[in-house]
Amino acid sequence: MIVKYPNKCLVTPCEPVKPEEFAPIGSAPNDLLFLISRMKTVCDLEKGVGLAANQIGVNKQVFVMNRGNPQTEFLIDQFINPEIIEYGDKLVVDNEACLSLPGLKIGKERDTYVVLKWQDTEGLWHEEGFKDLQAICIQHEVDHLNGKTIICDFGPLKRKMIVEKLKKVAKKNERVGKKRYRLEMNMDAMEEALAEAEAELNEETLSALNKEK
Ligand SMILES: [Zn+2]
Repeated sequence: MIVKYPNKCLVTPCEPVKPEEFAPIGSAPNDLLFLISRMKTVCDLEKGVGLAANQIGVNKQVFVMNRGNPQTEFLIDQFINPEIIEYGDKLVVDNEACLSLPGLKIGKERDTYVVLKWQDTEGLWHEEGFKDLQAICIQHEVDHLNGKTIICDFGPLKRKMIVEKLKKVAKKNERVGKKRYRLEMNMDAMEEALAEAEAELNEETLSALNKEK
């Protein structure tokens, strides 16, 4: 089940995977390997390019990404404790979608090239350059792991509109019998996010009024 915005998991930075949590060759399957296998299954089922651990409710610095051709093959690889250590010199604005914000496409400015440092399941470090779709996906997933979503830079008014839109989608899905969807959408969290956005909006309006005086 994918955790949907505005669930708290998505705005909380993930914890690094600790040295004792890795799985050296020959060791028995452990929590880390189970987590990765679950993430790969979900990423494959949902046809995502990538998936961060907090999108399935696990607060760990792990993401998976399809390194194959997005149209023809699924070759999902895992990245543990990832860190972008270098950016290219070209930016691109592309419409990004997110499994945690269904139905939305947001124009985001991203670097077309990044160098990523990460650990594999045995704890060994790797470093590699990625470009285009994979570079964008990596920036999107690393943002997730740092508690950021594609709408985190938006002000309260836009966030309120987005939550209202997500609520409508959830209600429509419920009408057509997709109960699971309403559960995933977490209506309590939505009401809370709406109230938060409204409170911020009131503060903004108040301070704007005060400035006018
Ligand atoms: Zn996402």
